[in-house]
Amino acid sequence: KLEGRTALVTGSTSGIGLAIALGFAESGAKVMLNGFGKPEEIAAARAKVGAAMGVAESPYSPADMSKPEEIRAMVAACEAELGACDILVNNAGIQFVSPVEEFPDDKFDRIIAINFVSNFHAIKAALPGMKARGFGRIVNVASAHGLVASPFKTAYVAAKHAVVGLTKSVALEIARSPVTCNAICPGFVRTPLAEAQVKPLAEKHGVSEDKALTDYLLDRQPTKRWVEVEEVAEMALYLCGPNSGSVNGTALSIDGGWTAQ
Ligand code: NAD
Repeated sequence: KLEGRTALVTGSTSGIGLAIALGFAESGAKVMLNGFGKPEEIAAARAKVGAAMGVAESPYSPADMSKPEEIRAMVAACEAELGACDILVNNAGIQFVSPVEEFPDDKFDRIIAINFVSNFHAIKAALPGMKARGFGRIVNVASAHGLVASPFKTAYVAAKHAVVGLTKSVALEIARSPVTCNAICPGFVRTPLAEAQVKPLAEKHGVSEDKALTDYLLDRQPTKRWVEVEEVAEMALYLCGPNSGSVNGTALSIDGGWTAQ
């Protein structure tokens, strides 16, 4: 399905990004990874995605998504090492939960920079090559929190709404080019980022972690189960495949019905 394509997936050493990178590689694409982690975790991710590509380890960029110059260098490295950047998945993200009056300034700025502004810099750097080569797919991993809000997540909700807005505006600009730009809006997905929120909720409400998950974290996710990373990867694969050229500027939900309410 992605035979001959090259892809850059940010934040792909873990969670959703790693599943997307693996899904792309298994579908025939050459993939560059990016993200933080312990050296052995990064090596394991590179080996896993590399095996699907038929090489010992996949290419990798250590770029920090809060640094525009590193984002530009990452896109340039993808074009140099893989020959192109046909597919860009803006996925890197962090979370921080706090009442707005106590929200640390530096944490707020960092979430806006990594979860939102990085998407602008990566798109700006990758788009000229996509247009010149006559094919491009931009997928921004937003969130259900790009469409609706929750309390105590001001930075995250603002950043993800901004990602959806950026997606729509870019999509309109490039509508007559062979490039598309879409957002994916997952509900709660079983990853380290989301699982880390269960224990504090259990402690706060004095209940078991199972109860904290269904009654508090997944209170608005009607399926009452995690979305799985493979399900999100499949949606990204569709958006980058051969029959999705008319899907442009959308924010596709994969949230167990959360935003249907
Ligand atoms: P995760 O913590 O498993 O992975 C996040 C990835 O981003 C990691 O590879 C990490 O190293 C990388 N990263 C963090 N800061 C970075 C930086 N400054 N520069 C480069 N890479 C950086 O989280 P995840 O749940 O897989 O989240 C991936 C994306 O999906 C995020 O944008 C998140 O907001 C979004 N999302 C997650 C959920 C969920 O429930 N897990 C739901 C909706 C949206």
